[in-house]
Amino acid sequence: MAFHLPNDPASGDVTSARPTLWVNPLYRKGAIDDPSLPIRPEDVEAARANWQRLAPLLETCFPELAATGGVIRSDLIELGDLRQAIGYSDAEFGTLFVKADSALPVAGSIKARGGVYEVFVFAEQLARREGLLKDGQDIRQLAGPEAKAFFSRYTIAVGSTGNLGLSVGIAARALGFKATVHMSSDAKAWKVERLRNLGVEVVRHDADYTSAVENARIAAEADPTIYFVDDEQSRQLFLGYSVAAMELAKQLEDRGLVVDAEHPLFLYLPCGIGGAPGGVTYGAKAVFGDNVHCFFVEPVQSPCALVQMMSGSKELVSVYDVGLTNKTEADGMAVARMSVLVATVMRNMLAGVFTVDDPSLFRWLLLAHETQGIRLEPSATAGFAGPEFIVKHPRGRAFCDRQGIVDRLPQATHVVWTTGGSFVPQQQFENFLQTAAANR
Ligand SMILES: *Cc1c(COP(=O)(O)O)cnc(C)c1O
Repeated sequence: MAFHLPNDPASGDVTSARPTLWVNPLYRKGAIDDPSLPIRPEDVEAARANWQRLAPLLETCFPELAATGGVIRSDLIELGDLRQAIGYSDAEFGTLFVKADSALPVAGSIKARGGVYEVFVFAEQLARREGLLKDGQDIRQLAGPEAKAFFSRYTIAVGSTGNLGLSVGIAARALGFKATVHMSSDAKAWKVERLRNLGVEVVRHDADYTSAVENARIAAEADPTIYFVDDEQSRQLFLGYSVAAMELAKQLEDRGLVVDAEHPLFLYLPCGIGGAPGGVTYGAKAVFGDNVHCFFVEPVQSPCALVQMMSGSKELVSVYDVGLTNKTEADGMAVARMSVLVATVMRNMLAGVFTVDDPSLFRWLLLAHETQGIRLEPSATAGFAGPEFIVKHPRGRAFCDRQGIVDRLPQATHVVWTTGGSFVPQQQFENFLQTAAANR
């Protein structure tokens, strides 16, 4: 073991790969106002404006977005039968929702908020810089034949365990870009096949996710016609995700649900490298302030954000450094080192991280499908552990106590962010169900 975790009540569980809750000792109110952070609340508003300006183009490229006028958004689903099935019927669990990014249009996962955003923002910038789109001209021109021919001279590259590659590949090909996706060895075969069918070049690396990203970066640096979507440090991905919080705020408001000191909000966000959950957390802090508490969730063998943030180290700590394997069926979260950008921004803003084992992921996958017909991939189910950790675990209760909200839990709202699944092919999904049934 190359690295020793600090003395924390959760350390032993982390290194022995037992599900656990780590509460961030550096969590504090008003953290978003820290002027030294590399992201500002205005950036979220600017990202929202970008999404809005790009909406007509998105609608033209993706007819499935006609119903929303080019807006990529997901439903907020209240837990009904699933609530009992999981064991959350007690009134102490407050109000429980699923934020169903698992069914997001265009990419079928939360990556539709990040990858699609970055590719479309890049396309617009490139077109303006090269004089293809002038002020006042209709942005839908960028879906026309002239723009396609122009974009085809450029390549969008990305490293991915799967879903980011899908979203970037789909977005890039829709505009006519060439696309190269560097995949890690744990990438699922169906994701590779789907990309190849779209005309995306898939390079498979016989190594983990971090190496796939490194290879993609090196290839891109050598060639000015390659634009690299850098999952380890991209601001654009982060900001694309952040806008999700405004969507959630509107949905809660439409249901007459208040978020304030009396009615806290908890978000449970599956974490790989940290961009998606970090972006959503940042946006949520910008929208709900100190009344929202965001927790990341990771597989017991891949808790990269947990070890990074617990270590407090400026250097990146990997899950291998603490003796873990990074092996999990949750391919969306099979990441050994977190993003430095996200670690910096989350330092005082993230409430904590909890971990889950693979059998639990399959159990929730089955229950969500059986009770409410919600189709999830294993990574997407991880947040279901959240309410139990917060309401029942001694450290969760102590956390609520310190926040002065322990007696307000029945009035709290818990949102389990389900991050992917609707694109999983039927055969693969049936395999998931079988795995789950066999473990029952
Ligand atoms: C990408 C992904 C995550 C985690 O997002 P990161 O930005 O890597 O932290 C979680 N779940 C699913 C299904 C994903 O595709």
